Amino acid sequence: MSNNGFRVEHRYLELPDSFYTRVQPTPLKDARMVCFNHALANQMGFHTDQPEDWTGVGAGTELLESMDPVAMKYTGHQFGMYNPDLGDGRGLLLWETIGPDGRRWDWHLKGAGMTPYSRFGDGRAVLRSTIREYLCSEAMHGLGIPTTRALFMVSARDPVPRESIETAAALVRVAETHIRFGHFEFAAHHEGKDTLKTLMNHVLALHFPHLIGLADSERYARWFEEVIERTARLIADWQAVGFCHGVMNSDNMSIIGDTFDYGPYAFLDDFDAGYICNHTDQGGRYAYNRQPEVGFVNCQYLANALLPVMDEDSVRRGLKRYEIAYNERFLQNMRDKLGLVQEDRSDLPLIMDTFNMLNEHHVDYTRFFRGLSNLTTNGTAPIRDLFVDRSVADQWLERYQQRLETECRAHDAREFAMRKVNPKYILRNYLAQQIIQEAQNGDYEPMKELLKVLEKPFDEQPEFEGYAALPPDWGKHLNISCSS
Ligand code: AMP
Ligand code: MG
Ligand code: MG
Repeated sequence: MSNNGFRVEHRYLELPDSFYTRVQPTPLKDARMVCFNHALANQMGFHTDQPEDWTGVGAGTELLESMDPVAMKYTGHQFGMYNPDLGDGRGLLLWETIGPDGRRWDWHLKGAGMTPYSRFGDGRAVLRSTIREYLCSEAMHGLGIPTTRALFMVSARDPVPRESIETAAALVRVAETHIRFGHFEFAAHHEGKDTLKTLMNHVLALHFPHLIGLADSERYARWFEEVIERTARLIADWQAVGFCHGVMNSDNMSIIGDTFDYGPYAFLDDFDAGYICNHTDQGGRYAYNRQPEVGFVNCQYLANALLPVMDEDSVRRGLKRYEIAYNERFLQNMRDKLGLVQEDRSDLPLIMDTFNMLNEHHVDYTRFFRGLSNLTTNGTAPIRDLFVDRSVADQWLERYQQRLETECRAHDAREFAMRKVNPKYILRNYLAQQIIQEAQNGDYEPMKELLKVLEKPFDEQPEFEGYAALPPDWGKHLNISCSS
């Protein structure tokens, strides 16, 4: 096939060849296009009325002219242990295209078969986890949180053995870059200073062009600070929306601060500070309330990798930005969620007490804040109904009303603003589960409908009210397997 008019680059190939291995995809059988993201394609500068035309690319049976698939090499810390053997074990970077707005898009085919970095894996992705990644990356985008995106996915006939035999699928995931903290760990621990510097310059030139003009020493210091700040802000955004990533290994940390690699993630239903969404994470290393700290640990891994080429002072100063950026963003997020524009010293205690209350009384996180955003129209009933003991809600509401009296904004204006930050619709685990079941029976319409709802999570969508409901009892504590 031709290049379909794409402006193509494949700048990753300019890196030293230790960073990749050329690998052809292993074809999938009888693949079928099941979901195609037309809006994203538009943004990337192309359009198709026939998404089926892309099935071959998804199935690994067809490549466009300039596609030159490579498996990327990286390493990283998994659950605190350094693993030198990582890399794309089942995904291939196909090429990079430039959109009409000059934005760069890496195309990554996930589930494309074995690579030299597959270790014990089969190189495949199953339908269940591919749908989960598709749904969540689009849900995060709808929420305004930086993330990799889902361009399209195919399902196929190939059986894939997991705990049971599952169906194969593949996803074309796109992002400005797929370079991770783990790339820097690989360069530092196995390749040496020059390679590390080459990687830094590559990332700076492509993804931090605004820093290029600075003097050498300052450029690297500012870049590192920015990476740390983006990471801290990303995690503050996760906390504010109740997102639990589940596998925050340093090879899953994007160097540009995207949410990256969707596995056994979950959005909180009932607020549970210590929630562990990954069932293989027995120690709760990646529990919801540990994410901010783990984000910092990952930044330390990156810092260690950069020490050979950066002065220690800059690295130390950069790391210090984490706590500052995290706290700033988190406080701002929570003030926004509560509708507070005046800054008051009592805000942090109010926020912490609110979390403690939600935790103690197992209150639905999303519905609580959405309810607060509609007090003037709906009164307090929707909030009170979330509590078994209504007097707890009443006491809290009284304190909240008192705090609101110090605000100057009109109620309507406040609640309007609150509805822009407190989503009505989130990707609850049970919703994903239902979509997966329907898809496994061959029906992808429910997936498409849910995607449409999640595109505008802050809008009232009366015809889709059901998606905003509390989870049914069966859907509250689903055991999500991470053998994806
Ligand atoms: P993850 O825990 O998803 O970040 O994956 C960790 C590493 O395992 C990455 O290097 C993946 O490419 C690799 N991996 C995950 N699943 C498979 C699979 N089914 N086959 C081969 N490699 C895999
Ligand atoms: Mg990964
Ligand atoms: Mg993964």
